[in-house]
Amino acid sequence: MDYEAIIGLEVHAQLLTRSKIFCGCPAAFGGEPNTHTCPVCTGQPGSLPVLNVKAVEFAIKMALACHCKISPFCLFARKNYFYPDLPKGYQISQYEYPLAKDGYVEVSTDGRGKRIGIIRIHMEEDAGKLVHEGAFETSASSLVDFNRTGVPLIEIVSDPDIRTPEEAGLYLRGLRDILRYLQICDGDMEKGSFRCDANVSVRPQGQRDFGTRTELKNLNSFRHVEKALEYEIKRQIGLLEAGEEVVQETRLWDEDQGRTLSMRGKEEAHDYRYFPDPDLVPLEVSEAWIEDIRGTLPELPAEKRQRFIRQYGIPEYDAGILTASQSLADYYEECVRLFGEAKMVSNWIMGDLLRELKKDDREIEQCSVPPKHLASMLKMITDGLISGKIAKTVFEEMYRSGKGPEEIVQEKGLVQLTDVDEIQRIIRRVLEENPKLVEDYQKGKEQLLGFFVGQVMKATRGKANPKLVNELLRKSLSKG
Ligand code: ADP
Ligand code: MG
Ligand code: ZN
Repeated sequence: MDYEAIIGLEVHAQLLTRSKIFCGCPAAFGGEPNTHTCPVCTGQPGSLPVLNVKAVEFAIKMALACHCKISPFCLFARKNYFYPDLPKGYQISQYEYPLAKDGYVEVSTDGRGKRIGIIRIHMEEDAGKLVHEGAFETSASSLVDFNRTGVPLIEIVSDPDIRTPEEAGLYLRGLRDILRYLQICDGDMEKGSFRCDANVSVRPQGQRDFGTRTELKNLNSFRHVEKALEYEIKRQIGLLEAGEEVVQETRLWDEDQGRTLSMRGKEEAHDYRYFPDPDLVPLEVSEAWIEDIRGTLPELPAEKRQRFIRQYGIPEYDAGILTASQSLADYYEECVRLFGEAKMVSNWIMGDLLRELKKDDREIEQCSVPPKHLASMLKMITDGLISGKIAKTVFEEMYRSGKGPEEIVQEKGLVQLTDVDEIQRIIRRVLEENPKLVEDYQKGKEQLLGFFVGQVMKATRGKANPKLVNELLRKSLSKG
């Protein structure tokens, strides 16, 4: 029997506001433990929360970017549970009345666009962090750092529209790209400022009802999300095939063992006793405010991708890569403005440039080759000054040294050889050294041309203009 997976993701994104969501403490990551704290975010009796308007603005930005309906009226609710990193004994979140509902994010799979629905986007505060020391010693202790309590989060809950682990990865990267374009979250999964819980179930192909789902936690990278889902889908199919049932539960991904482990079942699921927080007034969002914020939205990844395809005539694949970040897209457009040939620029950025950056684990912002240098180098190729092959060397040197291409070509004497007499001389020598092959060629073994071209290029250390070499060789060989 064939099975189909059903996946829905719950994503938490930390907002890059300067202060926390309900107090004036810095929301910045890090800092000496418990230095970004005050009576409000450490839950002292009698302290009162005051909503950070910037956090609301950021959340609305994301909601608009995801085509959600913004509620004119929403409420904050207390989610009650005990944990040492939660000093108040409850987390302020939103429950029945979230900030936004009913949106979607478009991902492109197999060259087709697919909409993944968004059920809701709501605001909440983050909890603190526990630091466990010497876990296996008698002196083991746990410390608590409240720097993170009260840092603003948005939770983005998707519809169960995702069908494969790859699609989950695409959707997640799509969300992260949007957050980064909006400059409201740094999207760093390893640091925990972008986190994901994955819900997954399987059903026999053709069945209408969803199967029982499990919820996967502890997914600290895109790769982990995909691997955990792959594992879990296989595990659930295995159970059904064996005539057993999937149990609704929360499972942890264990990266070292490469499998998911049960953490808690449905019976142990928390009852959070949500109720409206009496310390906070209802939040009203006016149409005028929404429209003001809409006016500040930048061109988002999906629109930019479409524009790149239209305006530059590049394939969708290229457009997808080049619009992954605003800075990379800007870099590309600047190169095209300076040089002109859109596809050639795209090839060099997607190939050599991104390869070097990846090797050094760097972002385009830290790239030592400014658009001006890449554009002049490409111009040197089309002008016939250097060959495409030599350009690879020039590029590496530009990347390494930060120097411009002209300087490098000068210094290293890399200018392409276009002197017909000089090339003729070399051709004559190559042919003289290979009389047998020349004879074979003339008897009809024309594929030998490639060999002769190779020899000439080698003799000029790659500097001869390959087109010219081809022409001249054909002539010499046909003379007999
Ligand atoms: P909860 O309140 O328990 O977290 P929700 O109804 O809010 O449950 O759903 C949480 C997530 O689970 C959503 O992303 C939703 O798309 C997904 N989901 C719901 N049912 C299923 C299912 N049968 N299989 C996979 N995912 C599901
Ligand atoms: Mg949930
Ligand atoms: Zn505080």
